[in-house]
Amino acid sequence: MESIEKKLREEAKRLLAEKKVDVIVGYEKGTLPLCSTPCFISNSEDTDRLVWDFFCRQNLAKYVHDLLFQHKESQRNVKPEEKTKKVIGVVARGCTSRSLIIHLQERQYHRDDVVIIGVPCTGYVAQEKIADRAGGEEIREGRVEGDKVVVKTVSGVKDIPLRDVIADNCLTCRFNNPVISDIMTATDAQPMSPDQEYVQVDEFGKRPLEERWAYFTGEMSRCIRCYACRNVCPSCYCKVCFVEQSQPRWVGIGIDETDTQVFQIMRMFHMAGRCVDCGACVEVCPMGVDLRRFLKKLDKDGFELFNHRVGAVLDEPPPLATFRDTDKDEFIFEPE
Ligand code: SF4
Ligand code: SF4
Ligand code: SF4
Repeated sequence: MESIEKKLREEAKRLLAEKKVDVIVGYEKGTLPLCSTPCFISNSEDTDRLVWDFFCRQNLAKYVHDLLFQHKESQRNVKPEEKTKKVIGVVARGCTSRSLIIHLQERQYHRDDVVIIGVPCTGYVAQEKIADRAGGEEIREGRVEGDKVVVKTVSGVKDIPLRDVIADNCLTCRFNNPVISDIMTATDAQPMSPDQEYVQVDEFGKRPLEERWAYFTGEMSRCIRCYACRNVCPSCYCKVCFVEQSQPRWVGIGIDETDTQVFQIMRMFHMAGRCVDCGACVEVCPMGVDLRRFLKKLDKDGFELFNHRVGAVLDEPPPLATFRDTDKDEFIFEPE
């Protein structure tokens, strides 16, 4: 990872110095132990802040979209001759690159608005898992040493096997290397267990309907409608989200049980053919709601019904954004 970080800093410095990009969106060391955080670097002297480690959790495609969208808005009333172009450099692992592909397929910006600095990925450490293994105690210091995470809490120093705390989505990720990139910082990394991708969904699907519904309602009863899951998701970028729309009002804004369920179900359906399983929404949830259990089912359906893997091929439109004249249409006339 150190050599990737070194190359990343060099490439970022070069891109900024040569004015190929206006800003680099990457990660820097966070203020808490075992935490890296998104950063925005526009000066080539500052690129040594960039890090690449097991604590880079967020999907940075979100910020690419936000920056380009804000720039587009700021250009609305500018005279044609004074319009400017903004190019974003972004540090992208597999899932980030897939989210960028979704944005490009959905025509949110152009391919030349973004320079993709690819990083091969070996997963990130899930905050909840590491907190569990630290016994819920405050982690005062922490670092990765080979295949273990060394954490220091009030009770002492503890070694935790790295694999035990890698996020579930990373353990079964098949696109851990960028699908598209302009620059690569290293050769491809091996995926872990992609053949296990749908095991959890399959097991869950075999449970009786009542049990599955009870699981869903139980999870949703913990949701406090903070919208962090929506706000962090690169595929959630509507200017006005349906939950905040007042004309018409689709759903109440409180934490009434049914409103919360409708919010989550609607958001999940918006993710059909668009969720890259980056886990950002799961990581950010303050209540530990198990969103992935349901999102992964959509991913599986997309693959089984349409042979489509989200964000895997730039020129292949998502299933819900295309049609064939040979498509069956019985479901329209003969709903089950
Ligand atoms: S989902 Fe894949 S690409 Fe994304 S962080 Fe995990 S291993 Fe890396
Ligand atoms: S729904 Fe969650 S896992 Fe899927 S793309 Fe959005 S943030 Fe990532
Ligand atoms: S982040 Fe968690 S608590 Fe907040 S709205 Fe999403 S599911 Fe609910």
